[in-house]
Amino acid sequence: MGIAADQHDFGRSMLVCCMNHEKPHQHTAWEWFDHGQTLALLPMNDDPASGAPRASVVLTLPTPAIEPLLTLEPPAFGREMTRRFAGRLGPMSLASTRHAYPLVAVYPQRLVGPRFACVGDAALGMHPVTAHGFNLGLLGVERLAARVRAAQTAGRDIAAPQDLAAYEREQRQASRPIYLATQLIARLYTQESPPARLLRGLALRLGQHCPPFKRAVAAALTGAH
Ligand SMILES: Cc1cc2nc3c(=O)[nH]c(=O)nc-3n(C[C@H](O)[C@H](O)[C@H](O)COP(=O)(O)OP(=O)(O)OC[C@H]3O[C@@H](n4cnc5c(N)ncnc54)[C@H](O)[C@@H]3O)c2cc1C
Repeated sequence: MGIAADQHDFGRSMLVCCMNHEKPHQHTAWEWFDHGQTLALLPMNDDPASGAPRASVVLTLPTPAIEPLLTLEPPAFGREMTRRFAGRLGPMSLASTRHAYPLVAVYPQRLVGPRFACVGDAALGMHPVTAHGFNLGLLGVERLAARVRAAQTAGRDIAAPQDLAAYEREQRQASRPIYLATQLIARLYTQESPPARLLRGLALRLGQHCPPFKRAVAAALTGAH
């Protein structure tokens, strides 16, 4: 459609896979901003075959460091991930295929064209640190569908330029603040310089000790008011 996009390559990739582990995950999701790596763990149901606790694991590293992990033999990979998680869940073992995603933020200069609209990551590709791309994508589809329905009800062409333009405006307004906040957080949490470390420590302490701040962040991310 000839739509140009601003792109920001974070120079990092995320490795995603399922892992079995010895200790229960207590149905708790983790995001762990370690020095030199970021880890996330999303609790899953127990492995149906072995009954072992199971989680989806996301490891973020500079792209060249991810590549060798994709082909490491499963037992060695299990040891490597156990080490990276500092043994907190006991020994871990690979329970799925491994996938790598390069981290690139994408911000298209337009969202619509003649009889065309971008939704999902095509409308806004974000760093997954705020775990929000899919939610924003669904909200965008809802907004576009509402415009299409309204046009149809009014007897207009469902792809009338003014309706597509209205969708673009609404989608931009709703997604730009979270996009900018995500870019800021991603930059802060992937830098190893002492000021960045200090600042993120402060931000986490503020979050921990200031319930209204915590609630405001949760509300912004869940759309709750
Ligand atoms: C590691 C990671 C963790 C994430 N965690 C979260 C989270 O916790 N919460 C959240 O809300 N979001 C999260 N996201 C973001 C979320 O995954 C995306 O926002 C969402 O998947 C986007 O959906 P989509 O359908 O727009 O695009 P995609 O899921 O990327 O789907 C696009 C599809 O189009 C296919 N395709 C591409 N080009 C072509 C072509 N030329 N022809 C045919 N097919 C093509 C691709 O193969 C792909 O299957 C995460 C993303 C990553 C990478």
